[in-house]
Amino acid sequence: MSTIGFLGLGNMGGPMAANLVAAGHTVAGYDPVPAAADAAAATGVLVAETAIQAVERAEVVITMLPSGALVRSAYAEILPVAQDGAVFIDSSTISVDDARDMNALAAKFGFAQVDAPVSGGVKGATAGTLAFMVGGVDAAFAAVQPALEPMAGKVIHCGGPGSGQAAKVCNNMVLAVQQIAIGEAFVLAEKLGLSAQSLFDVITGATGNCWAVSTNCPVPGPLPASPANNDFTPGFATALMNKDLGLAMAAVESTGATAPLGSHAAELYRAFAADNGAKDFSAIIETLR
Ligand code: NAD
Repeated sequence: MSTIGFLGLGNMGGPMAANLVAAGHTVAGYDPVPAAADAAAATGVLVAETAIQAVERAEVVITMLPSGALVRSAYAEILPVAQDGAVFIDSSTISVDDARDMNALAAKFGFAQVDAPVSGGVKGATAGTLAFMVGGVDAAFAAVQPALEPMAGKVIHCGGPGSGQAAKVCNNMVLAVQQIAIGEAFVLAEKLGLSAQSLFDVITGATGNCWAVSTNCPVPGPLPASPANNDFTPGFATALMNKDLGLAMAAVESTGATAPLGSHAAELYRAFAADNGAKDFSAIIETLR
């Protein structure tokens, strides 16, 4: 069992840290928001007063923070004080460029580091079934596996530094496009007098099938558990999809890739997120009606 320093005990980090404690690891955590720190303390996390205190004795350091800028400032603070041989895991969703910079910065201080963004949301974080997309060299990947295991349903080594974030932005760009396309199909069906149930039955058994309909059907009825049956809550918040699409567009721009559908999806979600950030991202269908 390891001593783990955990920075960012929010909606995702809180339950992830709790699963590490439940697996027998010693977890020292830090979060500047008292409510997040208190909730983590109740699950057995040893809450520290500062980020430095949380990581100075850690063999593994995990960050689960809202943005690349915050990961950057946290790393600037903790890399100089971490103990020799510590390995760093950044599970925050940040840009590929920031992820590569953080890997290089850790290497300057002599530390192995991986980017390991997740999918699965708060539900997966709580159940310990997150999918981790890991970018890093083989030795770093091997070193972080035992710490990821209690939080994970699936761990995929995607390649070198930054490739976890690259996989995440590519996947979420596809997801955004598919969710809009599925919304368009259900609205067109309504106008053609075709029932939602019939369209659902056909698409889920045919070539148009995808997660955006089979699990996240954007109209109430065919799939009682989809967020559309509950005013689009809970689910994967539009604000988070909008953030991820912003990162995807940064990657499109920095690489010169061509992504006309992804770019249009990013525009639609940017506009929709302004007033609908808390709704599941399948609610984009409302703008199509
Ligand atoms: P959150 O806002 O609930 O939690 C982030 C926490 O980090 C907050 O409690 C905040 O106080 C804390 N924090 C900020 N600065 C800090 C610092 N310097 N040191 C320590 N803690 C600090 O966000 P979340 O939903 O837990 O998301 C975390 C990351 O996971 C984000 O990058 C997000 O994009 C990604 N993510 C979220 C989901 C989801 O469904 N919520 C799914 C996949 C990925």
